[in-house]
Amino acid sequence: MLTTACSYIYKTYKKKMERVGEQVIRNKQVIFKDYISGLPKESDFLVKNENTTTLKLPEGSEAILVKNLYLSVDPYMRLLMQKFNTGGIFTPYQLSSALEGYGVSKILESTHPKYKKGELVWGPTKWEEYSILSNTQRLFKIEHTDIPLSLYTGILGMPGLTAYGAFFKVCSPKKGDCVFVSSAFGAVGQLVGQFAKHMGCYVVGSAGCDQKVNMLKSKFGFDEAFNYKEEPDLDAALKRYFPEGIDIYFENVGGKMLDIVLLNMKFEGRIAVCGMVSQYNNVDNFEGVKNLMHLVFKAIRMEGLQVYQYYHLYPKMLEFMLPLVRQKKINYVEEIVEGLEKAPTSLVGLFDGNNYGKQVIQVARDL
Ligand code: NAP
Repeated sequence: MLTTACSYIYKTYKKKMERVGEQVIRNKQVIFKDYISGLPKESDFLVKNENTTTLKLPEGSEAILVKNLYLSVDPYMRLLMQKFNTGGIFTPYQLSSALEGYGVSKILESTHPKYKKGELVWGPTKWEEYSILSNTQRLFKIEHTDIPLSLYTGILGMPGLTAYGAFFKVCSPKKGDCVFVSSAFGAVGQLVGQFAKHMGCYVVGSAGCDQKVNMLKSKFGFDEAFNYKEEPDLDAALKRYFPEGIDIYFENVGGKMLDIVLLNMKFEGRIAVCGMVSQYNNVDNFEGVKNLMHLVFKAIRMEGLQVYQYYHLYPKMLEFMLPLVRQKKINYVEEIVEGLEKAPTSLVGLFDGNNYGKQVIQVARDL
């Protein structure tokens, strides 16, 4: 009975794959099941094997068909798993559809005048093996292929551009500034710390385990680092590392950390609000911040940002970053997991600090 059923399913599948005149291929996907509140779980996603896609673009379309090589696992994705008011900035995921996120892809076919078959791009794509992308406005062509392609999900991709734009534009760094970076071992934080050292600043980072803390000092050259989970008194910790106060706070976590940092800022300090990962599972009830009066007392400039604001800076960022990457003068830790099956675990792991550096999913081995 079981054998007959299996044989039927196989024959139907094969037939589907061999439709005359079309090349049809399996398209494994990570499907978003339902809106959530609280922490994401592996069961919020379904890795679906049965879907197929036609390796041909619709007539008259202006789109590209890509094979996804690497996918970027990013904290903001959690925000798209829930409907709430973001002032129109984020559009929640569609139910029963493949997740959307940043990635590195190879163009298999193009009906778009700007793109050619065989080119490599990074930017928004979907969590599946093959995608048809009709919104190509936020894609960047990859011209420098001597660099490992996975790095275009990180140091040379969206997190890199965020770190570059936010640090140099919002923080206005200068030599000797005292800089504090939270979630410092993350995709963005590890770069901000190194940019700050490059500028001659004193840099301290916080992270959620001792191994990350040690690496911040030994690999990325932070002057000091601490494990925020082991500090019962965050105020005392910040006073220990910044006896004269903080000039620049690069905010990645929000909540209690921001409140305590406000108490420790110097006059005319700058706070770049890049993200608040501690709040992403709590959007119905964001944690309050009590010490905002310190913005006034100390004439602090606190500024939120979106990476899109820096898209025009990408060529400038490459000019700055490529020599540093090629000469290994900048370090970057990425954790690459293989296969879409592992994607849900990888995304969920961001929220308990299980990731070790930039989280990347390798979807395909070959180009
Ligand atoms: P990431 O740091 O690589 O990954 C998330 C990290 O957040 C985890 O590894 C964990 O590190 C930490 N974390 C998780 N839950 C936490 C909590 N409750 N309290 C404190 N730390 C927590 O992420 P990323 O890509 O570098 O992003 C860093 C921040 O920048 C995020 O807030 C992200 O949303 C934001 N971002 C903003 C933009 C923009 O355009 N505005 C662009 C990119 C990223 P530990 O082990 O250290 O706890």
